[in-house]
Amino acid sequence: MKKMLTGLQPTGVITLGNYIGSIKQMVENQNKYDSYLFVADMHAITIAQDKDELRSNIRSLIALYLACGIDPQKNKIYIQSENEYHTNISWILECNTYFGELSRMTQFKDKSLKNVNFSSGLLTYPVLMAADIIAYDAHYVPVGIDQKQHVELARDIAERFNKKYGETFVVPAPLISDNGTKIMDLVDPTKKMSKSSENKKGTILLLDDLNITRKKIMGATTDSGAEIKFDEENKPGISNLINIYVSLTDKSIKEVEIMFKNKKYSEFKTAVADVVVETITKIQSSYNKLLNSKEIDSILDDGREYTKKIAKAKFELMKEKVGLGRGE
Ligand code: ATP
Ligand code: MG
Repeated sequence: MKKMLTGLQPTGVITLGNYIGSIKQMVENQNKYDSYLFVADMHAITIAQDKDELRSNIRSLIALYLACGIDPQKNKIYIQSENEYHTNISWILECNTYFGELSRMTQFKDKSLKNVNFSSGLLTYPVLMAADIIAYDAHYVPVGIDQKQHVELARDIAERFNKKYGETFVVPAPLISDNGTKIMDLVDPTKKMSKSSENKKGTILLLDDLNITRKKIMGATTDSGAEIKFDEENKPGISNLINIYVSLTDKSIKEVEIMFKNKKYSEFKTAVADVVVETITKIQSSYNKLLNSKEIDSILDDGREYTKKIAKAKFELMKEKVGLGRGE
């Protein structure tokens, strides 16, 4: 069975963008692949984090994974920092990755612009991400389009290592859904919806109050036209709402355009709000039951033990190939 793997950073409450871009795809594919899902807490500290908030976000993210329909019987669920082999593997890979490649990553350019004193981890984190993926020989990585470039870098890193040292890794590929690959900010629909975004009005958080969620959608920026039509260039706000609607129902873009032909923007927004509220109501009720349960700890213990063995074996193999240590 082929492997599928993804991780999210505990940098805040999961957004509707994260849900549509990655978790939902994991849920839909969990029967098809051997699945791995982790909390990328080591990635989170590339940007300054509050210690207590980070801790609570980690547990909350695990509870959210489960509440979104991730089945612990079908997924290995674990915390990145509980498995030290990720960073060990990452170091060897870093020494086989060029500075130029990393400095060209769009996300590094974007995030480093926001801070004069950005950490060097912000530059090297895509290599740790490559390690997270190729340590398990994952074939597929469900991600939003914003992470496609990083998965492609992981491919390059795996291919280069295989060529230089002999077959070691499966070369991974991004798994990107047709719709909703990038959910945009509701206030500024030319910007990606992000959990670490400053303006909370543009972001739907899965744990938001339902009335606030409704208000955010009703207040979403649209355009001065009157037509509900998918046109990302001229109607980014409406197109984003269509993407959200399509991702959460089984309708196609065409069907939505027909359904809402000659309808007002406010009617369409109400319909979008209804499906979003329905989705997050279900998630929240299951989340509240799970958060403080012992079940989470036992799932994480199992996940850590299982994944540590795999990553350790890969690390030992890499050491052998590179010539580190004393050998067998
Ligand atoms: P941060 O702002 O801290 O980077 P983020 O919202 O970008 O947070 P990540 O943890 O970086 O979230 O990404 C988790 C997953 O969610 C990745 O697979 C990413 O591609 C996906 N994702 C993030 N934002 C969106 C979005 N707006 N639309 C679709 N997918 C998204
Ligand atoms: Mg991100």
